[in-house]
Amino acid sequence: MPTLRARWVLPIGRPAIENGEVVVAGHVIAEVRPARSGPCDLDLGDAVLMPGLVNAHTHLEYTALRGFTEDLPFFEWIRSVVQHKTHFDEKAWRVSAQLGALECLAGGITTVADNTDAGVTMEVLAASGLRGVVYQEVFGIDQREPVDGILGALKTKIDAHRRLASDRVVVGISPHALYTVRPELFDALIPYAREQGLPISIHVAESEAETMLTEEGAGPFADMFRARGIQWTTPEVSPTQYLADQGALTRMTLAVHCVQQSSGDIANLARSGAAIVYCPKSNAKLGSGVAPLPQWLATPGLRIALGTDSALSNNTLDMFEEMRFGLLAQRSSRKHATAPTARQMVELATLGGARALGLEHRVGTLAPGREADLIAVDMSRAHTTPATEPYGALVFAARAGDVRLTMIGGRVVYRDGHWSTLDAPGILDAARTGFKPAGQG
Ligand SMILES: [Zn+2]
Repeated sequence: MPTLRARWVLPIGRPAIENGEVVVAGHVIAEVRPARSGPCDLDLGDAVLMPGLVNAHTHLEYTALRGFTEDLPFFEWIRSVVQHKTHFDEKAWRVSAQLGALECLAGGITTVADNTDAGVTMEVLAASGLRGVVYQEVFGIDQREPVDGILGALKTKIDAHRRLASDRVVVGISPHALYTVRPELFDALIPYAREQGLPISIHVAESEAETMLTEEGAGPFADMFRARGIQWTTPEVSPTQYLADQGALTRMTLAVHCVQQSSGDIANLARSGAAIVYCPKSNAKLGSGVAPLPQWLATPGLRIALGTDSALSNNTLDMFEEMRFGLLAQRSSRKHATAPTARQMVELATLGGARALGLEHRVGTLAPGREADLIAVDMSRAHTTPATEPYGALVFAARAGDVRLTMIGGRVVYRDGHWSTLDAPGILDAARTGFKPAGQG
């Protein structure tokens, strides 16, 4: 039984252990304890040994489009993304998702909740060793596109994904957003997800443009609908209320973003049982605002996770940056020096994500019987020395590049610059040479 030792062991949900050990037996954790005297299998020295990070909102297939869409308002940004998407084939999407998987593994991410349109991430997760949920995206706002056809195509994709599903990678659906999925399509998708036991991920209350559409029938989405002859009946309620009315917020739903929310919206979402994914860097980059994290944290029973979103709106899949920026954005905008705490951010990035995905009995903490999904973060470098307290060091000082070891289900998938499951040089080379923004040849 391999025993890993480090200066800090962070079980999450229990106090940190200074000079601790984790004993791994097969794919699970056998013991978490203070270090014993004598040799161990791997002494990580001045490092934090902790549960692998849960990135609760990604689009891995967009990773190689990093930097393609900069400095655009939300509506223009999403239109630009749609244009770029038309230029790549399935092979390219696979390379792009593999690049995302490399970045996740090297940055200590062991579980992802990934949205896919091209449908390639199922096989990429299966091959990479990453754990996760793959949500097949569905679009259909135009009433001239029959619901039956959209649902039929979705079912074919879900059946194909299920052939690659496993104990480690499961399938879900993502009705993309309220401005890309019309009510009749929600009426078909939500019962289908319920019957099939498919978890749901949906972008909710992200931009002001979305709020203007549902509350006033105005703004860039409304203008685009009118120009294209797309029927839209303005519900005159908030985006969160609208999606609750569509039946899209359930115990199986990840409500991603939730920036534009009133206290009534938060209560409504909490009642639905849906979990929230906080994506602070993406929200800041697109000028969407600062999500009401303190109100979420104060809402009993509300499950909250942390996500990077895609490289198109971030531009990194670095959960350390996400924890740091997510904390600083709150403290800065609310002029509050003590909330949220570093420890709360680490919990969102581990146990919070596990809870949001219904995986808290398997991952998110270090405890006997849990999956051996764990990472070692180096604390011996100039920018982290001295690491006197582990939570603050992780959130305020550490970065993805400080991860030395990533283990998933007892298997070492990344260690000191080397990936064991993916051909990193080949993927990096293909990503470097195979992707150019539209209009640049
Ligand atoms: Zn997204």
